[in-house]
Amino acid sequence: MIQNFSGPKAPLLKRFVASVMLVSLVGGILLSVIIASIQLNRLNDQKEDSARLRLESIVDSAAYAAFNLDSAQGHSLLKGFDSDTLFKHIVLLDNYQDVIAELTQPTSNSDENTWTEWLIPTISNATITYPLVFPVHRNNQFIDENVGYLIGSINYQTSQREFLELVGTIALSTLGEVLLVAIILSIFFHRQIGRPLSNIIESIDNSAQLSRHKNATIRKVKGHHGDEFGRLVDAYNNSVMQAFNYMRDLEKTKAELKSLSERDPLTNVTNRRALLSELNTRCSQDAVFHVVSLDIDNFGSYNDAYGHQTGDALLVTLANALKKIVPKDVPISRTGGDEFVFILPGDLDKEEITNIITPILTVSLSDALPGGTQSISCSIGVAAYPKNGQSPQQLLHATDVALYVAKDGGRKCIRFYDKQADLAKIRQEEVRNALQQTIEKKNFTLLYQPKVSMGTGRVTGCEALLRLHPDISGVHSHVEIIEEAERTGLIVALGREVMRRAFSDMSKVLDELPEDFRFSVNVSPRQFVSEGFIADLVTTSDKYRVPLKNLDIEITESSQMFDTASSNEVRQWLKHAGVTVTLDDFGTGFASLEYLMTYGFDQIKIDKHFTQSLPLDEDAKAIFNVVQYLADKLHMSVVAEGVETPEQVAYLRNQGFDCAQGYYYSTPLSLAAFLPFVIQQQPIEQKCV
Ligand code: C2E
Ligand code: CA
Ligand code: CA
Repeated sequence: MIQNFSGPKAPLLKRFVASVMLVSLVGGILLSVIIASIQLNRLNDQKEDSARLRLESIVDSAAYAAFNLDSAQGHSLLKGFDSDTLFKHIVLLDNYQDVIAELTQPTSNSDENTWTEWLIPTISNATITYPLVFPVHRNNQFIDENVGYLIGSINYQTSQREFLELVGTIALSTLGEVLLVAIILSIFFHRQIGRPLSNIIESIDNSAQLSRHKNATIRKVKGHHGDEFGRLVDAYNNSVMQAFNYMRDLEKTKAELKSLSERDPLTNVTNRRALLSELNTRCSQDAVFHVVSLDIDNFGSYNDAYGHQTGDALLVTLANALKKIVPKDVPISRTGGDEFVFILPGDLDKEEITNIITPILTVSLSDALPGGTQSISCSIGVAAYPKNGQSPQQLLHATDVALYVAKDGGRKCIRFYDKQADLAKIRQEEVRNALQQTIEKKNFTLLYQPKVSMGTGRVTGCEALLRLHPDISGVHSHVEIIEEAERTGLIVALGREVMRRAFSDMSKVLDELPEDFRFSVNVSPRQFVSEGFIADLVTTSDKYRVPLKNLDIEITESSQMFDTASSNEVRQWLKHAGVTVTLDDFGTGFASLEYLMTYGFDQIKIDKHFTQSLPLDEDAKAIFNVVQYLADKLHMSVVAEGVETPEQVAYLRNQGFDCAQGYYYSTPLSLAAFLPFVIQQQPIEQKCV
């Protein structure tokens, strides 16, 4: 509230009062001068009128004196004006303009050209001239004749003093009047404008300090309900209410948007974004908790088999099951695909966690799937804060690793994060990258290890063995890469490239080799039954002009091969095309006698593990005997792999085996080294396959 209208809070009033005073002062002075000059003009007119009257009163006597050229009479006439301040100078002239009599009033020089001159309009007829006429008798009649002039100059000296007096009086009264008006105006301004305005400002100040959730409107100023101040308060209150409503709507919309942006519309649980924000908050609180990550086992195959609608239904079922199993206050998030994550607060031990989450491993379906499946299983990975990760990213990585290990461990199980598994997974990812590069860039080479007839030393064939580009082989071994390719199925693509390269290499040396020479290529069982395997063989053989009858395929024992219609079809086609098939690593894998007898292999390759145990190990010898017996019965040839010593050679030859492969004869050779090795062998008719 403003009590003192000249106080520091009322600069507007101060300015108003100062302006009114200044304008009043200047205006008052100007007005006084203008009024004074108008008054003075009127005074001068009056003076001129009375000067004329005074001169007119002596015109006749002056005419008589002029007619008689009577200087004494002239002077006595003018003497009457002696103390008359109205005239500065009076002169009586004859008709020849000669002076008859003259009167000059004493004047001070300072009165001439004073500052008032520019204010007092110059009177053009300041000098009054009366021509003097006298009746003269001529030709018997009186004729008026000009006999001289009476000239009077009016004295304005007293007018300047009067002017100043006048100005003084007028200025004083005007200033007083103006001052009065200024005071009245200032009081009026203070009451009618200053005070209500201050009230409004104070009210706005107070309302601004209130919480924006409260009604921040201001009170009307008393006595100003209908005027501009009343309307100003109304307008302010309206805008405050509008802003308040707008803010309230905005907050509501923001909350709705946030909830939408953090919710998974399908399962109505929160999404990854919400999980990350929850994890961020928890990580900053520094209290122990566990992150549980899970997904449906073989979700992809359910999706493929029954369609995405069924897949979605499974996700909803799992989300609902989680809501029942997981403690109420724990938010569940779907982080993508079929992966769900939730947080278990508190310092729980492994057993407590396992008890809580074990029911998730099997989720019953309310409606069985078309195939009759009644339930789905899940794999679960668990990581602990802060032990396994201090940030959301580290924790989610840790649960990913644990979940991966659960999948790798056969699915439908719980795994807690383990550092070793993490390192192994990292390593595996590196191996996968190296594998991908090898396939994409085809930057590998093949070495060729000769297959030799022990009797003659003649090279009858070779085995193509994969070697990696130096960039990769420095870090990963080819065995590691091949194992990863087998695990991921990329062996099909890798094997296709190896086959093409083997044909390409052989096309360069085949002319130098014996006609019955066979080059062996290792083929994974998955590649063997893969789509387009035969078509690719035909195309490759045609492209490099290397006949299929020179090809041998080495294939390891595998359950995947058995009883599949396609593997039998492929086998029949290969037989027809003249391609031989060798059962590799015999004795180490999936040995099914029935399969061995029915499949129709051309050759059995006994694993180097048995060869290297010769000639002392009885089990190894037994294997060789059995294989020799079977091979005889089924018309298959036998090759011993990994022959390293003369004793092994001697034993095998003694037993009637002839074909061997091993460091005793040669390590795997580059293509350039392989051809000279073959040529130096003696050309004696004997062959392995
Ligand atoms: P594998 O098919 O049994 O190949 C024979 C392995 O024994 C080769 O190892 C060879 O270098 C090694 N070896 C040969 N003679 C001797 C010997 O006297 N003593 C010993 N200790 N070892 C000998 P490598 O080249 O390391 O190949 C390992 C395995 O990798 C192969 O075993 C094969 O299963 C696989 N592999 C190699 N190349 C390919 C390929 O192109 N495709 C497929 N699918 N697998 C391949
Ligand atoms: Ca092999
Ligand atoms: Ca082998």
